[in-house]
Amino acid sequence: MAKKEMRILLGNVAIARGIIEAGCHVVTSYPGTPSSEIIPAVVQFKKELGLNTYIEWSANEKVAFDNALAASMTGKRAAVAMKQVGLNVASDSLMSSAYTGVIGGMVIISCDDPGPLSSQTEQDSRFFAMFAKVPVYDPSTPQEAKEMVKDAFELSEKYQVPVILRPTIKVSHAKQSVKMSTIKMLDRQADFKKDPDRWAATPKYRLVLHKKLNETLKKIQEKFENEPRWNYEVGAGRDVPLGIITCSVSFVVLLDILEELNLEKAINVLKIGTPYPFPQKRVSEFIKRHENVLVIEETDSVIESQIFDKSKVLGRLTGDIPLQGELSPDRIYDILAIVLKELGIADLEESGDEKLHQLIEGLDVSVRRPTLCAGCPERAAFYAIKRALPKAIYSSDIGCYTLGLNMKAVDTVLDMGAGITLASGFYHAYHQDKEDVPIVATMGDSTFFHSGTASLLNAVYNNARFILVILDNEITAMTGMQPTPGLGITADGSEGKKISLEELIKGCGVQWIKTIDPYDVENLIKLLKEGRKYTQRSDGGIAVIVARHPCLIRYPDVGVEHPVKVEITEDCDGCLYCLDYFECPALYLSEEKDRVEIDRNFCVDCGVCIHACPKKTIVLMEK
Ligand code: SF4
Ligand code: SF4
Repeated sequence: MAKKEMRILLGNVAIARGIIEAGCHVVTSYPGTPSSEIIPAVVQFKKELGLNTYIEWSANEKVAFDNALAASMTGKRAAVAMKQVGLNVASDSLMSSAYTGVIGGMVIISCDDPGPLSSQTEQDSRFFAMFAKVPVYDPSTPQEAKEMVKDAFELSEKYQVPVILRPTIKVSHAKQSVKMSTIKMLDRQADFKKDPDRWAATPKYRLVLHKKLNETLKKIQEKFENEPRWNYEVGAGRDVPLGIITCSVSFVVLLDILEELNLEKAINVLKIGTPYPFPQKRVSEFIKRHENVLVIEETDSVIESQIFDKSKVLGRLTGDIPLQGELSPDRIYDILAIVLKELGIADLEESGDEKLHQLIEGLDVSVRRPTLCAGCPERAAFYAIKRALPKAIYSSDIGCYTLGLNMKAVDTVLDMGAGITLASGFYHAYHQDKEDVPIVATMGDSTFFHSGTASLLNAVYNNARFILVILDNEITAMTGMQPTPGLGITADGSEGKKISLEELIKGCGVQWIKTIDPYDVENLIKLLKEGRKYTQRSDGGIAVIVARHPCLIRYPDVGVEHPVKVEITEDCDGCLYCLDYFECPALYLSEEKDRVEIDRNFCVDCGVCIHACPKKTIVLMEK
């Protein structure tokens, strides 16, 4: 590898490269947008460079965290990657590991999703870092993310604390020409040194560890005060009325806007790449030199809330920055336009993007909502559920199948595993009032492995009654086709142990377990009705149906094993029932014919829609 080689890398690939360049021994993760590309890129670098890195797709984020932490406790370097809500799952371990600390460097990559574009919350992982009391790096570009990963490993190892890197989605998914560096091979043997006062600390020693952590944070804060690589100033280079403090991708967007407006010499900009522990003196000195200071940061007010004297500060807390949503370039432009006008610095034109938005709105173009793919087996399962138990409460979960919402077959989506726990909670709430309400929980295979088992065994243990349909498409589809434990293939493609879903469900204490292909709609409807009866029987309980059919995108060759051509007869009266309740994207209303037709460009010949027309006008095509 030549020292100065440049490669165009995706942000997450640059992060993977940083992990490898830091000589990291163990890398673990649970997939979730925007973090999912990190593990495949580590696998690719491992293969390309012939490294001995241990890489794992773990069953969930806490499992991933603990595996990485154990490696660090033996003196090896370890990284764990997840999306921001994954850090909630791993938070128990994170909070405790801040106290016990680490030996080999440990870096937690928590990718934030302002917007949110693919998450249930917009939470800011920098706040989690503050909450757990661990240092955090906040990169602005893929190149910087790679370098920060390496610095984070050094910091973690020097001060023996876990360190968070939090790229936002625009850093994770941006592409940049990134400078490659040499791979630093760290020859370390696992060497766990027993120290129960630290690794198994009782509350008494936890207090000691907490004090030590606070002292360590002070030292790191001193270091961050004088950290020219990550915290630095650009702009006018002289005293001007306005200073802007910013971070992450907002920093590069802001510089572009200022350059375009020829304002780069009229405003000073302070970039903060290490927001916790907060470089208070560095920031206070910057604020002192300006009449007004604007803080532009996403997703939340982490920098702003840590500033001691906020009397000159404009930001989210003063209502000058929106409280929610991604800070896109047009939003930053608009914020800047208002503040510069108010301060009499510049009178900017209305943003071009704003005009574009108005133009698009004026076109009256209908927005097409996201939908399950044509032929998706999950659609068949939802359709059967709606037909079998139309009055049920439908608790669901996180995955492609959240889109069962469109079919009105999903009433709740809270977090990973809550499809089952909410079903259990609904049952007890009604049962207390002596009411028997049908409840159908839906959950994907990957989500069930992630956090379904504890939810299910708790529900069985506490005598809940509901139907659980596990939508087993034999892959983690939504996040980019990562393997599940049910597949028996590990992160680098080598063979692992295949875990049987049915045996796992049985192990949770469930006695009524049936497996069916959801394409077999009529029999699935019968099974759901049988399951409902089982939940009502005196000796009954929870009924679990494994609806197994491979994802058509991941397994195109076997997805539709027996293709059939269907057509819609002239008897179709355009009632739109099939569009409203079945919603296959290959079905559309032909305005010319005033009836529904099939778009052959989308249709995969699964034949399931035959069941979706109550008037039987969707039929097999005559040969
Ligand atoms: S195909 Fe059937 S359900 Fe769809 S619009 Fe025609 S009659 Fe209605
Ligand atoms: S056969 Fe029907 S359900 Fe299957 S993809 Fe074609 S239109 Fe959609």
